[in-house]
Amino acid sequence: MSDHEHTKTDGLGDAAQLAAGGVDPWRSRPRNERMAAGKIECNACPVLCQISDGKVGACDRYANAGGVLVRVDPVLLVRKAVDGGADAGALVPFAAAGSQGGAAAEGPVFVTAVGASTTYPDYKPAPFIVATQADGVDMVTVVTEGIFSYCSMRVKIDTDRWLGPEQAHVRCHGEVVGHVSTAEYGSQMLSLGGVHHITGGSKKEGRVTVEMMLALGNKQSVELAIEGGSTVRVQAGRAPVVDGVEERRMRVGCGSATVGIFAQQFKDVVDEVVVVDDHITGVLTEHQAGRCLDMRPAGLKVRGRKSTPGRYFQVANPGTGWGGTDIADPMTIVESWDPDLAWPGLRLLMVSTTGEHAQYFVLDAQRVPQPQPMPSDVQRVVERIGENCEPSLATVLFVGGAGGSLRAGVTENPVQLTRAIKSALVNVTCGGAPAYVWPGGGITVMVDVSRMPDMSFGTVPTPAIVAPIEFTMSLDNYRDLGGHMRFVRPLSEVLAHGAWHHDGAPTARRFIASQASNPWPIGQGPLLG
Ligand code: SF4
Repeated sequence: MSDHEHTKTDGLGDAAQLAAGGVDPWRSRPRNERMAAGKIECNACPVLCQISDGKVGACDRYANAGGVLVRVDPVLLVRKAVDGGADAGALVPFAAAGSQGGAAAEGPVFVTAVGASTTYPDYKPAPFIVATQADGVDMVTVVTEGIFSYCSMRVKIDTDRWLGPEQAHVRCHGEVVGHVSTAEYGSQMLSLGGVHHITGGSKKEGRVTVEMMLALGNKQSVELAIEGGSTVRVQAGRAPVVDGVEERRMRVGCGSATVGIFAQQFKDVVDEVVVVDDHITGVLTEHQAGRCLDMRPAGLKVRGRKSTPGRYFQVANPGTGWGGTDIADPMTIVESWDPDLAWPGLRLLMVSTTGEHAQYFVLDAQRVPQPQPMPSDVQRVVERIGENCEPSLATVLFVGGAGGSLRAGVTENPVQLTRAIKSALVNVTCGGAPAYVWPGGGITVMVDVSRMPDMSFGTVPTPAIVAPIEFTMSLDNYRDLGGHMRFVRPLSEVLAHGAWHHDGAPTARRFIASQASNPWPIGQGPLLG
């Protein structure tokens, strides 16, 4: 079916009826007769702002434009072309004179929910239900801005440094906005936001929490203070800054892995290597790697709890020194030397998991390690460790629960949407970026904000986060799950005239180029099956 043929569907019936002045059960209505003349009420969220002509509501997202409620921001359209097309970035009004929506002819276009408006008070069909084609299959994308009270940010901070104890509060502007989660391989995870901070604390806590989430989601930087730990500046896709120092390297591996990975290269230039790590410190000649390479045992004993040969836990306290420990002098973790094994002249390298800290020693006649200038062949291996470290980044994932009222904008029978998603019949995206849907009940999505368009997120003062979400599926599947078929409109009609309703709708659109790393949201393999 072509785009044009879609204009013949009964989907246009409702929109045409509304345009002709028919009864509109979806528009905003005055709350009572006492509402001042000239004001209109926005009902795009529960705050129900009364907005004077020329003014915006509390969220800055809706305005009264000459007595008409409008969505202030343009709706963002992603064009598949790498350069975004000739009019990329230009603001184009909907319903422009003579507009036929012909921009679609320049290449595939995806209507994102950024700026699209919402379905609140929850019974309206989504503002855009867009018909397109992919590989000859009729497709539908249901587009809406979701209002999320249940949402959070998962932040991954690539660092060896200890940021604070697990479960410690994370504060922003003095308010508790999250907590320290687990440490992963070379990274510290933070869990920020969430309904308990958004709605369960003081008014200020909720406001600061959503402002923090808004900034992180919009790829801006946020300063976070971890109780009993560090202050860290976080921005999606940028290096984290820990206590004022920009993090540069992500560890190549734990101390044990580093010993093993570089064992062959160490073997020819030193007699013993200790890779200092807050988690697992490695001692080469005792480690299986050293044994397999027939390295002579050096008799060095480090502090801490032995896990397995050559692998030690808790050699020091966590901190921002060598390998995420609190040490500045590596010798503090050396407990003793076995006089029957160590020998004068033994060459020892102490190095951290990123190679940022390294020191070279030689045992003197009394088997006491003496610092020496590092030979160039040893330096080269240390540099090789650094070369294998990836740049440290902060990564921000938005997690939102779309299981509630938002589904009613898609279908009259919301559980059908959940089932269709779980059956892989629906591709869920956020601003065109691929979203991972968690298994189990509901529609809990997780998306990397750096793959979303800039400034994708908003807030409302309920408080809650506003985030874009799109559901793409075949037209047949949309019909099967009880979709709002009467509101399906072809892309050309959407490009020309905007949302199906005109109350609180965006008045303009803007094209942006698709991100090369994002799969095109329409026509993913399983959807067409
Ligand atoms: S806060 Fe924004 S969305 Fe909510 S009623 Fe006011 S203007 Fe509308």
